[in-house]
Amino acid sequence: MIKSKLLVAVVLVCSFAAAQNASNAPDVTVSAKARAIHDSAIVVDTHADTPQRFLDEGFDIGSTDSKDVGHISLDKVRRGNLGAEFFSIWVDPETNQGHFAKHTFDLIDSVYEQAARHPDRMMMAFSVADIERAHHEHKLAALMGIEGGHSIENDIHLLRDYYRLGVRYMTLSWSNTNEWADSSGDIDDPKVQHHNGLTDFGKQVVLEMNRLGMMVDISHVADKTFWDAIATTKLPVIASHSSARALVDAPRNMTDEMLKAVAKNGGVVQVNFFSGFDDEGFLKALAAQKKDQDAAVQQYMDEMKAAGKTVSYIELDRIEREWTAKIPRPPLKVLIDHIDHIAKVAGIDHVGLGSDFDGVSGATPQGMDSAADLPKITQALLDRGYSADDIHKILGGNTLRVFREVERVSREMQGQTSQKMSSSHITIR
Ligand SMILES: [Zn+2]
Repeated sequence: MIKSKLLVAVVLVCSFAAAQNASNAPDVTVSAKARAIHDSAIVVDTHADTPQRFLDEGFDIGSTDSKDVGHISLDKVRRGNLGAEFFSIWVDPETNQGHFAKHTFDLIDSVYEQAARHPDRMMMAFSVADIERAHHEHKLAALMGIEGGHSIENDIHLLRDYYRLGVRYMTLSWSNTNEWADSSGDIDDPKVQHHNGLTDFGKQVVLEMNRLGMMVDISHVADKTFWDAIATTKLPVIASHSSARALVDAPRNMTDEMLKAVAKNGGVVQVNFFSGFDDEGFLKALAAQKKDQDAAVQQYMDEMKAAGKTVSYIELDRIEREWTAKIPRPPLKVLIDHIDHIAKVAGIDHVGLGSDFDGVSGATPQGMDSAADLPKITQALLDRGYSADDIHKILGGNTLRVFREVERVSREMQGQTSQKMSSSHITIR
């Protein structure tokens, strides 16, 4: 499993399913005032890895199993007033070598199937208008973002097909450097062929995403890729699940200079809830156990290989959870600190929520056990003096603003393209 072979900070992130560790800390009590502020917002989360569960476990989002350790179910969504979720379409580049697109389509299908199974409580959404409609109908708006540019198999036609199927953002790279974008996950690995950021084709991908109306996501990318993407894009970008490097020195987190650049670009950084990105102590403890955890994962994989069996993600996740459970969970405060830092450095208009739910093997701060706990964030922000308006921006308003802007400008760009085409009869490829 590639996660365990990459640098420690990404070891656990984006595996699927999650668990809760036992927590002894006093829980946050959500006041009536905080609850009212929270419930009047359209809450948008830009990253959850639940589709791995749909596809590999046959998990039903309608599950009411009280023993289920997952972060997302329709019941938990309702309790947390989560209005829109960008489900992550993540293709493990190692185990899907040679058929990235096939697995991408399977994951997309898994999201549609869940929506079809629960039409009373969930609907596919492809625009801000859809999210608003879902909100009025008290349904979860299900959106999709592709996590890792390798999914397009270096083919701009596939990128467009994914847009047509409803994908509304793409993370330029996952933890693996692909053939056109360097990743923070392997940037120090001399065995990997790097490109010094984005290649010319990578820049074309960014521009085509702008034209299509697919948000450019710079989470996971190497620092140089970030700067190349910022210089290339004509539209605001998102960092769908990244935290602040000034607080926790992980390559997946964003420096203050990057935060300011995203602010200037008009984009949003959606804070990741993973304890390894939000708490330095947790990150160090992960690093300390990395060798032993890698060995446990390798032993399991060797056993499967020897027996001629395929690797089970459920089993790998169980092993990872066993290891993360040995590390004490940080308090919820660390997550709020990242929101606070980004709000101060980039500005209140440039911070949002990108939980990484179901992708961190249970390693979230205390009290943040599922989507049902989202109102605790509102309470914590209220306690720190944030106004209701500011809280609404963080909970989803900022992300909706960027999405709306991307929709608007892409329509303009497409209008210009078709005018050009009709006047000069040029076929744009
Ligand atoms: Zn990720």
